[in-house]
Amino acid sequence: METDCTYCGCDVERHDPVFVSEGTPDDLTGRFCNYGCLAAHIEEEALATGTTCEWTPSG
Ligand SMILES: [Zn+2]
Repeated sequence: METDCTYCGCDVERHDPVFVSEGTPDDLTGRFCNYGCLAAHIEEEALATGTTCEWTPSG
């Protein structure tokens, strides 16, 4: 399983990983070192604007 951070490309297993899924929990769309990378990714991709996104942090 790939464990590169979706945002910065680091190995998320070395941090406190946050996993993101859209729809079903099995449909993983992103993984991040921590909430900082998640927040930065959301801001950069403007995911928080226009759409209602559902993400499930785990771990
Ligand atoms: Zn990262």
